Amino acid sequence: MDALVSLSKRRGFIFQSSEIYGGTGSCWDYGPLGVELKQNIKRVWWRDYIQRRPDMMGLDASILMHPTVWKASGHVDNFTDPMVDCLECRRRFRADKIDETPWVHYCPATKGNKFTIPPGEPCSHCGVTRTLCPECGKGELTPPRQFNLMFKTFMGPVEEDASLTYLRPETAQGIFVNFDNVLQSMRRKLPFGIGQIGKAFRNEITPGNFIFRTREFEQMEIEFFVNPLETVEGRPADEYWHERWIEDSMAWFRRYGLGEENLRLREHEADELAHYAKRTADIEYRFPIGWSELMGIANRTDFDLKQHAKFSGKALTYFDEERKEHVVPYVIEPSAGVDRALLAFLADAYREEEVRGEKRVVLRFHPELAPLKVAVLPLLKKREDIVRTAHAIRDELSKDWSVVYDDTAAIGRLYRRQDEVGTPYCVTVDVQTVGDQAKGEVGDGKVTIRDRDSMEQIRVPLEALGSVFRELLGGAAWASVAGRFERKGDG
Ligand code: ATP
Repeated sequence: MDALVSLSKRRGFIFQSSEIYGGTGSCWDYGPLGVELKQNIKRVWWRDYIQRRPDMMGLDASILMHPTVWKASGHVDNFTDPMVDCLECRRRFRADKIDETPWVHYCPATKGNKFTIPPGEPCSHCGVTRTLCPECGKGELTPPRQFNLMFKTFMGPVEEDASLTYLRPETAQGIFVNFDNVLQSMRRKLPFGIGQIGKAFRNEITPGNFIFRTREFEQMEIEFFVNPLETVEGRPADEYWHERWIEDSMAWFRRYGLGEENLRLREHEADELAHYAKRTADIEYRFPIGWSELMGIANRTDFDLKQHAKFSGKALTYFDEERKEHVVPYVIEPSAGVDRALLAFLADAYREEEVRGEKRVVLRFHPELAPLKVAVLPLLKKREDIVRTAHAIRDELSKDWSVVYDDTAAIGRLYRRQDEVGTPYCVTVDVQTVGDQAKGEVGDGKVTIRDRDSMEQIRVPLEALGSVFRELLGGAAWASVAGRFERKGDG
């Protein structure tokens, strides 16, 4: 994790929010490369789930909603975490996560020496398990009490007159309250889904672990509405679609680079199921902090639509033409965090390799996610014709992709810099490309393309660059493209 945090800051991915004021522990800012990576994650998600699927549509609901929404959804009463306080140092912890952090222990068997013991383990000297505050190792903890995670705010110019409302803690409710609007305006038949990407806010008791748990984050959520009277392949439609969404979601994370061995499914036990859920399965990822939730896929039944119908007095039903009756759809909810997905993609892409006796740090991002697709590098920055050609290539390629020009170091170092931010391809312009007028030599009009992962290089005619990158960045394997061109030594 330390390597990721430091690389993220050094190379412009993620900065601590308000850092010059000492920072906040619970918010992070995405820098120039981080924002590209984040946009790419959201773009492929939107394309794969909203644009390409005939049964899906998009929505962008507001963050501030009518306060009754949160009464109806159960958030005012139930969106709580159990909190304990240390009576000594006053720090607060989530009671259900407290054994997931290392704990400080003053061991009586070693004259009170201080140890930091791994999460959940007993002291190897005296054998006791943690009962006191894990941070200071001294204070007793209060019994757990429920703490509501919603951020309160006021709507209107004068605080006292204004109505209390909340920053949304999930995007889902914006979809439920618009169910009928979408159904009527888009004339849909069940099953169909509505997807949304947007900010959510939770006043987490213990935010931390970089962008894993923050108080302001982004979600990519889908509410997929199914007819509970129908069966598909001999199973109730909601159960069939739940299974389909679990498989689809797993496949999606694998497609964009998460290793099979770092992904697993975890079913919620009956006693941890949310108040609305019939079944929930989490996709867990092996983060640097250990196996933790990456996304949840819940069967929310007809709970939300029924609640909103009850509180608003508006019918939120679907007319089943075949059976001639009104039904309240069941809902399958695949819900992923954008920031957590980004952390997983970053962690999975990160490699430290040894190349010719030197350490190379490389982010092996899927090309669709990589913040920069191509870097154009002049071999000699004093040669005006080389520099001009390199700029012209950048200008041309940047019509379609995010491309940078860099001449601030020697070529070896420039390659390493691009490896470190995960740029899949570099293009170098050299003397051979443009020739040497003084010596009467004409250029061959070819540039070198270097592949990040294999470090192989090929010579490609300038006029073929566009089509070659269309292939490579469109998913073609390097070997299948490289085979058609002249090979150069590795770079
Ligand atoms: P956790 O148990 O980790 O608190 P949750 O089960 O409350 O998470 P959900 O309500 O299912 O989370 O939210 C859906 C997704 O939103 C999560 O899988 C996660 O990716 C993301 N998410 C939730 N809370 C946060 C947070 N505080 N910071 C970043 N992402 C979050």
